[in-house]
Amino acid sequence: MSENKTPDMNRRRFLGSAGAVGVAAVGTAALATPGVSEAAAKAPRWAMVMDLRRCIGCRACTVACKSENDVSLGRFRAVIQEKTIGTFPNTKKAFLPLMCNHCEGNEKDGVPPCVTACPEFPGERRKFKTTDGKTIRYRHGATYRRPDGLILIDKDLCIGCGKCIDACPYGVRSFDPFVKAGGDPTKQAADKCDMCVNRIDNGVEPSCVNTCQGRARIFGDLNDPSSSVSKLVKEHNLATDDNVLLAEEGTVPHVFYIDPDNLLKTLYTQRKKKNLDHFVDLIV
Ligand code: SF4
Repeated sequence: MSENKTPDMNRRRFLGSAGAVGVAAVGTAALATPGVSEAAAKAPRWAMVMDLRRCIGCRACTVACKSENDVSLGRFRAVIQEKTIGTFPNTKKAFLPLMCNHCEGNEKDGVPPCVTACPEFPGERRKFKTTDGKTIRYRHGATYRRPDGLILIDKDLCIGCGKCIDACPYGVRSFDPFVKAGGDPTKQAADKCDMCVNRIDNGVEPSCVNTCQGRARIFGDLNDPSSSVSKLVKEHNLATDDNVLLAEEGTVPHVFYIDPDNLLKTLYTQRKKKNLDHFVDLIV
């Protein structure tokens, strides 16, 4: 992907005007991003809120993701972790949706560990167009961070080394056995959630969000204080270590959880590549 299209923000319900407030306004989990030009504050900062009060574990998100992105057989980009909680007879099913967190990276690195680990990053400079027609230049790579916060994979540049897969503490990346790495066709390309970037660039919300019948997934622009994600982050004080996965890893995730049952601390099972080759549903 060389350049993004300009989203038609005005005609879509989830997209607000970019750059209304600085990223830091939402709390400590959102940091400025070194390596992206000073104009980055005017780009959107896409994020997702998972409202665990509303998830019913139907997996419509999982199926929509596979359908939208042609995710190959046996592989997933969005999964659910499931467990029965409570003590009989007061039990219930708990569901924890998981995907790439589109992490911001800590202040020192400025990009998440998957990007830091990529031997093809930083590559050439590319252009990102904001909704107000401005251009932001950023560093491309096989794995890279766009100025709107999306962590993306350029499979034409990927050399299939697997370093990004090892570096992600969440285990959301895996090789796609059906896609060759463009940089070394003898290897498989890495793959993960791209937040349906093709839809976002055309002003449409991600497929998992669009499909979620319980409206447990909320997507939008953290830089727009009137967006639903900004309001939820503020209302529920989500920009804290308790409302993201593995805050101690310092990746600064931008998937936030409304988590009244404390599932992030009690249910979540960290995935490591060496323990689980593919990112799949887990019943614990
Ligand atoms: Fe990278 Fe993993 Fe964070 Fe996604 S969840 S941005 S793959 S470190």
